[in-house]
Amino acid sequence: MHCTICKEKDKNSIELLGINVCETCFSDISTIPVCHKKYDYYKEVIKVVLKNYIYERVTLNPVK
Ligand SMILES: [Zn+2]
Repeated sequence: MHCTICKEKDKNSIELLGINVCETCFSDISTIPVCHKKYDYYKEVIKVVLKNYIYERVTLNPVK
């Protein structure tokens, strides 16, 4: 499995909201300051990921 964010194949990727994130990206995301230039990029990635995640949940578990 490769990291969804940096696209690198990583040994220590973890599953987060249905995607694979390597430890580097994960710690980047959780520690990045708002003023950092990559902050907006991560924000967009997380937004898309969350949308897909919620969408998958909805289609997998349709309201009865
Ligand atoms: Zn990564």
